[in-house]
Amino acid sequence: MRPLSKGLVAVIAGPSGVGKTTICQRLRADPLYRWSVSCTTRAPRPYEREGEHYHFVTRPRFEQMIAGGELLEWARVFDNLYGTPKAPLEAALKGGAVMLLDIDIGGAEQVRRLGYDAAFIFLKPPSEETLISRLRGRGEAETLIPGRVARYREELARAAFFHAFVVNDDLDAAVAATRSAIEARHAQVNGGEPPARAPA
Ligand code: ADP
Ligand code: 5GP
Repeated sequence: MRPLSKGLVAVIAGPSGVGKTTICQRLRADPLYRWSVSCTTRAPRPYEREGEHYHFVTRPRFEQMIAGGELLEWARVFDNLYGTPKAPLEAALKGGAVMLLDIDIGGAEQVRRLGYDAAFIFLKPPSEETLISRLRGRGEAETLIPGRVARYREELARAAFFHAFVVNDDLDAAVAATRSAIEARHAQVNGGEPPARAPA
Protein backbone atom coordinates (compact mmCIF):
# COMPACT_ATOMS: atom_id res chain seq x y z
CA MET A 1 0.00 0.00 0.00
CA ARG A 2 1.20 3.50 -0.82
CA PRO A 3 2.28 5.41 2.32
CA LEU A 4 0.00 8.22 3.46
CA SER A 5 0.68 11.52 1.69
CA LYS A 6 2.23 14.43 3.54
CA GLY A 7 -0.47 16.72 4.81
CA LEU A 8 -0.97 20.26 3.56
CA VAL A 9 -2.18 23.51 5.05
CA ALA A 10 -4.55 25.25 2.60
CA VAL A 11 -4.96 28.93 3.45
CA ILE A 12 -8.16 30.36 1.97
CA ALA A 13 -7.97 34.13 2.28
CA GLY A 14 -10.01 36.94 0.77
CA PRO A 15 -12.43 39.63 1.91
CA SER A 16 -15.22 39.03 4.36
CA GLY A 17 -18.29 38.10 2.27
CA VAL A 18 -16.43 36.74 -0.76
CA GLY A 19 -17.55 33.15 -0.12
CA LYS A 20 -14.70 31.51 1.83
CA THR A 21 -17.02 29.63 4.21
CA THR A 22 -19.30 28.52 1.36
CA ILE A 23 -16.39 27.16 -0.71
CA CYS A 24 -14.71 25.47 2.26
CA GLN A 25 -18.01 23.80 3.18
CA ARG A 26 -18.20 22.30 -0.31
CA LEU A 27 -14.60 21.04 -0.16
CA ARG A 28 -15.21 19.44 3.22
CA ALA A 29 -17.58 16.91 1.66
CA ASP A 30 -14.35 15.19 0.54
CA PRO A 31 -12.70 13.28 3.41
CA LEU A 32 -9.26 14.44 2.28
CA TYR A 33 -10.21 17.89 3.62
CA ARG A 34 -10.46 19.02 7.24
CA TRP A 35 -11.61 22.38 8.58
CA SER A 36 -9.69 24.33 11.18
CA VAL A 37 -12.14 25.87 13.67
CA SER A 38 -10.63 29.19 14.77
CA CYS A 39 -11.05 30.83 18.16
CA THR A 40 -12.46 34.35 18.21
CA THR A 41 -13.47 37.00 20.73
CA ARG A 42 -16.21 38.35 18.44
CA ALA A 43 -19.87 37.67 19.12
CA PRO A 44 -21.53 34.93 17.04
CA ARG A 45 -23.73 35.93 14.08
CA PRO A 46 -27.29 34.59 14.37
CA TYR A 47 -26.60 31.57 12.13
CA GLU A 48 -23.24 30.65 13.65
CA ARG A 49 -22.78 27.69 15.96
CA GLU A 50 -20.11 27.15 18.63
CA GLY A 51 -17.51 24.61 17.54
CA GLU A 52 -18.67 24.65 13.93
CA HIS A 53 -17.98 28.15 12.63
CA TYR A 54 -15.76 29.24 15.52
CA HIS A 55 -14.93 28.60 19.14
CA PHE A 56 -16.34 31.77 20.71
CA VAL A 57 -14.14 32.67 23.68
CA THR A 58 -13.67 35.55 26.09
CA ARG A 59 -10.72 37.87 25.77
CA PRO A 60 -9.04 36.57 28.96
CA ARG A 61 -9.35 32.99 27.64
CA PHE A 62 -7.88 34.07 24.30
CA GLU A 63 -4.95 35.73 26.06
CA GLN A 64 -4.43 32.56 28.09
CA MET A 65 -4.25 30.56 24.84
CA ILE A 66 -1.61 32.93 23.45
CA ALA A 67 0.44 32.68 26.65
CA GLY A 68 0.14 28.89 26.70
CA GLY A 69 1.34 28.54 23.11
CA GLU A 70 -1.97 26.93 22.07
CA LEU A 71 -2.33 29.03 18.91
CA LEU A 72 -0.38 28.51 15.71
CA GLU A 73 -1.05 32.11 14.67
CA TRP A 74 -3.38 34.87 15.72
CA ALA A 75 -4.35 38.34 14.57
CA ARG A 76 -6.54 41.30 15.45
CA VAL A 77 -9.18 41.89 12.77
CA PHE A 78 -11.80 44.66 13.11
CA ASP A 79 -11.10 45.00 16.88
CA ASN A 80 -11.52 41.31 17.60
CA LEU A 81 -8.92 38.59 18.11
CA TYR A 82 -8.84 35.49 15.92
CA GLY A 83 -6.48 32.52 16.13
CA THR A 84 -5.82 29.03 14.80
CA PRO A 85 -5.59 26.24 17.43
CA LYS A 86 -2.35 24.32 16.97
CA ALA A 87 -3.23 20.79 18.18
CA PRO A 88 -6.00 19.89 15.69
CA LEU A 89 -3.90 21.22 12.81
CA GLU A 90 -0.89 19.11 13.76
CA ALA A 91 -3.12 16.02 14.12
CA ALA A 92 -4.72 16.56 10.71
CA LEU A 93 -1.35 17.00 9.01
CA LYS A 94 -0.01 13.86 10.65
CA GLY A 95 -2.94 11.97 9.11
CA GLY A 96 -2.08 13.29 5.62
CA ALA A 97 -5.13 15.57 5.36
CA VAL A 98 -5.52 18.98 3.76
CA MET A 99 -6.30 21.41 6.61
CA LEU A 100 -8.40 24.35 5.40
CA LEU A 101 -7.70 27.67 7.16
CA ASP A 102 -10.00 30.64 6.61
CA ILE A 103 -7.68 33.33 7.98
CA ASP A 104 -6.72 36.90 7.21
CA ILE A 105 -3.62 38.03 5.33
CA GLY A 106 -1.63 38.57 8.56
CA GLY A 107 -2.36 34.96 9.54
CA ALA A 108 -1.33 33.78 6.05
CA GLU A 109 1.98 35.62 6.43
CA GLN A 110 2.57 33.91 9.78
CA VAL A 111 1.85 30.44 8.34
CA ARG A 112 4.29 31.20 5.56
CA ARG A 113 7.01 32.25 8.02
CA LEU A 114 6.46 29.09 10.09
CA GLY A 115 7.44 27.09 7.01
CA TYR A 116 4.49 24.69 6.73
CA ASP A 117 3.86 22.89 3.45
CA ALA A 118 1.02 25.11 2.33
CA ALA A 119 -1.18 26.27 -0.55
CA PHE A 120 -2.14 29.95 -0.41
CA ILE A 121 -5.39 30.67 -2.28
CA PHE A 122 -6.91 34.17 -2.46
CA LEU A 123 -10.61 34.38 -3.31
CA LYS A 124 -11.73 37.47 -5.21
CA PRO A 125 -15.26 38.71 -5.84
CA PRO A 126 -16.19 39.36 -9.51
CA SER A 127 -16.35 43.07 -8.54
CA GLU A 128 -16.50 45.28 -5.45
CA GLU A 129 -20.23 45.84 -6.15
CA THR A 130 -20.82 42.08 -5.95
CA LEU A 131 -18.88 41.92 -2.68
CA ILE A 132 -21.06 44.67 -1.23
CA SER A 133 -24.26 42.94 -2.29
CA ARG A 134 -23.10 39.62 -0.75
CA LEU A 135 -22.30 41.40 2.51
CA ARG A 136 -25.77 43.01 2.48
CA GLY A 137 -27.36 39.66 1.60
CA ARG A 138 -25.73 38.14 4.67
CA GLY A 139 -27.17 40.91 6.84
CA GLU A 140 -23.91 42.77 7.50
CA ALA A 141 -24.43 46.18 9.16
CA GLU A 142 -24.32 48.96 6.52
CA THR A 143 -21.80 50.97 8.58
CA LEU A 144 -19.28 48.11 8.47
CA ILE A 145 -19.29 47.73 4.68
CA PRO A 146 -16.86 50.52 3.65
CA GLY A 147 -14.24 49.17 6.10
CA ARG A 148 -14.59 45.66 4.66
CA VAL A 149 -14.05 46.96 1.11
CA ALA A 150 -11.01 49.03 2.16
CA ARG A 151 -9.54 46.02 3.91
CA TYR A 152 -10.06 43.91 0.76
CA ARG A 153 -7.88 46.33 -1.22
CA GLU A 154 -5.15 46.24 1.44
CA GLU A 155 -5.18 42.44 1.67
CA LEU A 156 -5.01 42.01 -2.11
CA ALA A 157 -1.98 44.32 -2.23
CA ARG A 158 -0.18 42.07 0.31
CA ALA A 159 -1.05 38.76 -1.38
CA ALA A 160 1.69 38.65 -4.03
CA PHE A 161 3.13 35.43 -2.56
CA PHE A 162 -0.15 33.48 -2.99
CA HIS A 163 -0.20 30.46 -5.32
CA ALA A 164 -3.61 31.16 -6.89
CA PHE A 165 -6.26 33.89 -7.21
CA VAL A 166 -9.73 32.44 -7.76
CA VAL A 167 -12.71 34.60 -8.73
CA ASN A 168 -15.86 33.40 -6.95
CA ASP A 169 -18.50 34.16 -9.59
CA ASP A 170 -20.06 30.83 -10.52
CA LEU A 171 -19.80 28.81 -7.29
CA ASP A 172 -19.19 25.38 -8.90
CA ALA A 173 -16.38 26.80 -11.05
CA ALA A 174 -14.79 28.51 -8.04
CA VAL A 175 -14.92 25.29 -5.97
CA ALA A 176 -13.30 23.37 -8.85
CA ALA A 177 -10.56 25.99 -9.33
CA THR A 178 -9.82 26.11 -5.59
CA ARG A 179 -9.65 22.31 -5.40
CA SER A 180 -7.36 22.08 -8.40
CA ALA A 181 -4.97 24.74 -7.05
CA ILE A 182 -4.80 22.98 -3.65
CA GLU A 183 -4.31 19.52 -5.14
CA ALA A 184 -1.60 20.73 -7.55
CA ARG A 185 0.31 22.08 -4.55
CA HIS A 186 -0.39 18.88 -2.57
CA ALA A 187 1.09 16.80 -5.42
CA GLN A 188 4.10 19.16 -5.56
CA VAL A 189 4.96 18.70 -1.86
CA ASN A 190 4.53 14.93 -2.32
CA GLY A 191 7.04 14.69 -5.15
CA GLY A 192 4.45 14.75 -7.92
CA GLU A 193 2.13 12.05 -6.48
CA PRO A 194 -1.59 12.97 -6.40
CA PRO A 195 -3.14 12.95 -2.88
CA ALA A 196 -3.69 9.41 -1.52
CA ARG A 197 -7.43 9.14 -0.87
CA ALA A 198 -8.86 6.35 1.25
CA PRO A 199 -10.75 3.80 -0.90
CA ALA A 200 -14.45 4.69 -1.22
P1 ADP B 1 -17.02 34.61 3.78
O1 ADP B 1 -16.87 33.29 4.52
O2 ADP B 1 -15.92 34.82 2.80
O3 ADP B 1 -17.21 35.78 4.69
P2 ADP B 1 -19.61 33.51 2.92
O4 ADP B 1 -19.22 32.13 2.49
O5 ADP B 1 -20.30 33.67 4.23
O6 ADP B 1 -18.34 34.50 2.87
O7 ADP B 1 -20.48 34.13 1.73
C1 ADP B 1 -21.08 35.42 1.83
C2 ADP B 1 -22.45 35.39 1.14
O8 ADP B 1 -22.27 35.23 -0.28
C3 ADP B 1 -23.32 34.22 1.60
O9 ADP B 1 -24.64 34.69 1.72
C4 ADP B 1 -23.18 33.19 0.47
O10 ADP B 1 -24.32 32.36 0.36
C5 ADP B 1 -23.00 34.09 -0.76
N1 ADP B 1 -22.20 33.48 -1.84
C6 ADP B 1 -21.05 32.75 -1.72
N2 ADP B 1 -20.57 32.37 -2.94
C7 ADP B 1 -21.44 32.86 -3.86
C8 ADP B 1 -21.51 32.81 -5.30
N3 ADP B 1 -20.58 32.18 -6.05
N4 ADP B 1 -22.54 33.43 -5.90
C9 ADP B 1 -23.49 34.08 -5.15
N5 ADP B 1 -23.49 34.18 -3.79
C10 ADP B 1 -22.49 33.57 -3.14
P1 5GP C 1 -15.37 37.08 10.18
O1 5GP C 1 -15.53 37.87 11.46
O2 5GP C 1 -16.01 37.73 8.97
O3 5GP C 1 -15.77 35.62 10.36
O4 5GP C 1 -13.80 37.05 9.88
C1 5GP C 1 -13.08 38.25 9.77
C2 5GP C 1 -11.69 37.95 9.27
O5 5GP C 1 -10.97 37.17 10.24
C3 5GP C 1 -11.65 37.14 7.96
O6 5GP C 1 -10.68 37.75 7.11
C4 5GP C 1 -11.18 35.78 8.40
O7 5GP C 1 -10.45 35.11 7.38
C5 5GP C 1 -10.27 36.14 9.56
N1 5GP C 1 -10.03 35.02 10.47
C6 5GP C 1 -10.90 34.08 10.90
N2 5GP C 1 -10.29 33.19 11.70
C7 5GP C 1 -8.98 33.56 11.77
C8 5GP C 1 -7.82 33.01 12.43
O8 5GP C 1 -7.87 31.99 13.12
N3 5GP C 1 -6.66 33.68 12.27
C9 5GP C 1 -6.55 34.81 11.51
N4 5GP C 1 -5.34 35.37 11.39
N5 5GP C 1 -7.61 35.35 10.87
C10 5GP C 1 -8.81 34.73 10.99
